[in-house]
Amino acid sequence: MIDIRMVVMIENFNLGDTVKMKKPHPCGSSEWVITRTGADIKIKCLGCGRIVMLDRELFLKRAAKITVRANKPKEELNDK
Ligand SMILES: [Zn+2]
Repeated sequence: MIDIRMVVMIENFNLGDTVKMKKPHPCGSSEWVITRTGADIKIKCLGCGRIVMLDRELFLKRAAKITVRANKPKEELNDK
């Protein structure tokens, strides 16, 4: 059985959202912007501009939280 307190996953995300990853990129930034969604997720590092493609499951495991919603006001982020 999986302890959900240990495996915290983001629930949903949209194109253009900024995501904070659990592990920082070697460039020092841990924030990425989602540039493509679908079966594979494409994200771009905000620090160095590198683009990485991850499958959805891996992306969800690595993402810590959404820091900026592309389509929603920031106030809604403080709930979680
Ligand atoms: Zn980077």
